[in-house]
This record gives sequence, structure tokens and C-alpha cells, in this order.
Amino acid sequence: MCSGEEDRVDKFVAMATAKVEVDLRLSDYAPRSQLKVASHPILRPRFPVIDYHNHLDAQSPMELLKIMDACGVERIVNITMRTGEAAIESLERFQRCAPDRFAFIGWMDWDGIERSDFVQLSLDRIERLVEHGACGIKFWKDLGLTVRDGSGALLRIDDERFAPIFEKAAELGIPVMFHTADPDAFFDPIDRYNERYEELAAHPDWGFSGSPVPKSELLEQRNRVFARHPKTTFVGAHLAESSEDLRSVAGLLDRHPNLYVDISARVAELGRQPYTARKFFLKYADRILFGTDLLPDVEMYRLYYRFLETDDEYFEYPSHASRQGRWNIYGIHLPPNVLTKVYRDNALKLLDAAGR
Ligand SMILES: [Zn+2]
Repeated sequence: MCSGEEDRVDKFVAMATAKVEVDLRLSDYAPRSQLKVASHPILRPRFPVIDYHNHLDAQSPMELLKIMDACGVERIVNITMRTGEAAIESLERFQRCAPDRFAFIGWMDWDGIERSDFVQLSLDRIERLVEHGACGIKFWKDLGLTVRDGSGALLRIDDERFAPIFEKAAELGIPVMFHTADPDAFFDPIDRYNERYEELAAHPDWGFSGSPVPKSELLEQRNRVFARHPKTTFVGAHLAESSEDLRSVAGLLDRHPNLYVDISARVAELGRQPYTARKFFLKYADRILFGTDLLPDVEMYRLYYRFLETDDEYFEYPSHASRQGRWNIYGIHLPPNVLTKVYRDNALKLLDAAGR
């Protein structure tokens, strides 16, 4: 190399180290993929589908039936977010219209938590819901994070006072669904390192980085309940809230034979780890429930089917308008014997046990 040239920056090094700071607003950035790969939209699922996790209080049953018929959804489990008489009204509105197309999970009602007879009150409420057709009861993430008892103390999920509620569920044959905690990123600060920054910016109330109870502690409290009530069937909503770490979900399913998980609102997570996810589905095919937790819509359902049935690469995941993160997903092409369990058979087992 002749002298002089050494002083100049090497062209290749310059190219490889070039960096730029841009002022484009994140909200305005909308890149379009140039990838050209095979695409296999699935218009109807290979087997009839039961959506085990949705919220239909605001929906019209007749309109829903059109959507369901258009994309092969046999039944939707409506997890009401209402309590008391409003819950019964919501339930009856769907049962009057098409009892065989809708099922119903009740919402744990914390009203009256300060009363000394609160547990008995809850047992009566749950019995009443079941008399009206409910096939489960759901405990939401407010338990452990925000619900306080009469003395103002934060309630623990494994508070032993609630044991009779879980025993009652076993007696009635209904599963208890837990949505405990949230994705890992929701417990991190909402900053430039947070992979769900835009979603959290749209829903600041979903951020728990200031929570006095860390996520790991919330999950441990919940898991203690699974262990304490082996005769009760539990459903861990959203892959038991550990979809970023399927090894831990596998461990949970191994330790608790009374546990099922639903995949609702977690296709974004599953579809970015397709090899791991596929192995997980093959191994735990008997314990996974199809669910969406998204506004019912034909195209939304079709994205779920495409994820589960095809080996398509790098396509959009079904999501709320706020999206979950800036990535795309890959299909996991499940075999028919697994699909039929996840789409329908596992949910039917739980619905049959509850007499629905
Ligand atoms: Zn939900």
C-alpha cells in the first residue's frame, strides 16, 4: 500500500461504519416489506373453531353469527366484563339468540370485598351465574396488582380466604381462568429500550414498571393456587402470561396437570419464535385452547388460521389497532391431529365438564 492512501478512510470501512440520526417520527414510519414468498391465506379453518377467549358484551349476536359463519367459528366463549344483573343480562341476550353458538364465563366481582361474608357472597354469586349458564369464572390482573381489602391492604392472589371459591369451582365443574400480570415488557419502563413502546404509549395504564409487586411474584402467587387446588381446572389466559418464555409455560404445564392455557392475544409472541412455538404445540396439544381476545372480525380469525395452519413467512399478526411490537410472524403448520385439539376438542372438554 503506498503512503498517502493509509491516511484516507478506507471505502469499505467507511461504508460499514456509516451511521445516521434521522428525524422521522416513529408514528410516521411505515415500512413495506419487499419480501416475495409464498402466501396461503386460509379462508376457513381446517376444523370448526371454538374461540375460548373473547369479550362480547358490546356486540350484537346476530352480527356475530354472520362473522362466525363466514369463517368457520362454531362457538365463542363470551367472558363478560360485567358483574351482577348486567352480567346475567349479557349472558341471556346471547342465549336467547343462539344458545349453541355462545358460551359464557363470569367475571369475579370484588364489590363488597370489605364485608366479613365476602367469600359466601362470592360463592352465591358464582352459583347464580352457573345456574344461568356460565361455564367458568375469570380472575383478572387487578387481583394482585390493585384490588384492596377493607383494611386497604393489597390482596394477594394466593390469599387463603379465597380457597372455598376455587373448591366451589371444582364442585360445579367449571374452570377458573386467571389473567395474572401481563407481558414482560409491561413491567419495564416505557422508554426507548421497551420492545412494546408504541403499544404502551397508546395504553399508559398497561405499564406496571412502578408496581410494588414484581411480575415473578404475581405468577408465583397464582401458581400456588394451581398447586393448592388439584381438583380445580385452571385456564392460564394468554399462555399463562409467559409467552416470551415457552420453556416456563412448559414447566408450568408439567407441574400442574389441572392447567390449560389459551393463546389469545399472543400470536405476535408465538409467531416470532415459530420453531419453539411449533414444538410447544406438538408437545402440549391437549392443553392449549384457541382464543383471540380481539374484536370479532373475519380477517382477524383468518390471520389466526394462517398462523396455525401454514408455513407462510413474515406476515402480519392479528392485533388491536395499537399493535404489540414492530415485527411480523411465521406460520407453524400444525398437523391435523393437533389442530383439531387446539381449535375445538380441548375447549369442548371444558365446556362438557361444565355441562354446556
Ligand atoms: Zn381478555
